[in-house]
Amino acid sequence: MPELPEVETVKRTLTELIMKETITKVSVGWPKMIKEPDDVTLFSTMMAGQTFKSIERRGKFLIFRLDDYSLVSHLRMEGRYSVSNSDEPTTKHTHVRFFLANGKELRYADVRKFGTMHLFPLGTECQRLPLVKLGPEPLSPDFSPVQLKEPLQRTTRAIKSALLDQTVVAGLGNIYVDEALFKARVHPEKTANMLTDEEIEQLFISIKQTLLDAVKAGGSSIKSYVNGQGEMGMFQQQLNVYGRTGEPCHTCDNMIVRSVVGGRGTHTCPTCQPS
Ligand SMILES: [Zn+2]
Repeated sequence: MPELPEVETVKRTLTELIMKETITKVSVGWPKMIKEPDDVTLFSTMMAGQTFKSIERRGKFLIFRLDDYSLVSHLRMEGRYSVSNSDEPTTKHTHVRFFLANGKELRYADVRKFGTMHLFPLGTECQRLPLVKLGPEPLSPDFSPVQLKEPLQRTTRAIKSALLDQTVVAGLGNIYVDEALFKARVHPEKTANMLTDEEIEQLFISIKQTLLDAVKAGGSSIKSYVNGQGEMGMFQQQLNVYGRTGEPCHTCDNMIVRSVVGGRGTHTCPTCQPS
């Protein structure tokens, strides 16, 4: 699943490709994907004639700002945007097509069909579900150790599960939680409200650093993930624990182990992250 760095990379590449382009028509092949409005014809009508003004990101959501509306899009497991010439064939996984005045198309493909789109009047999107429930934005200058500590103090879940909760902090998924916990030397099964202030401070720093490094590298390309221009992210070469089960830790040379925490495959160095 694309996480914050991958979505940020998609945002940046799509911005170069579709900014100031006007939508002439929208065609939806999988209506269930459109969550707001609940009438898919209305969705298409509302978007026709609108111009892409900017693309932003909140957590793992893309926000396409148009003249009068904001399109909030979540890629979920396998959603992908691409920009094609209209004469290029679509695949059976192409579910939404935004025809542009310049003769090109923004296409949304999704093998699993789990992705979602919400269209709201411009400026109201942050007060509506799904964005309204999101926790702090980890790369925002406002994000602070206090903001991280507050929700962690209220839960007895494992720290790994708490960090995957998008209401605690937005944008983290399985890869970057494992990496951030390793950097902070915190064991993923540690109870969230038992973390010391020093551990929370370390975690705060490591979350920011891990995400910044990953954004810089264009995200990871575990499995089939590619960005909006079809390029692979390079961050997988910098992973310390994720996907490295049985390999030596870069810090202590002991073996990385895999366990399951809260139903999710979890990668830990038991020496660097004592329980
Ligand atoms: Zn280690």
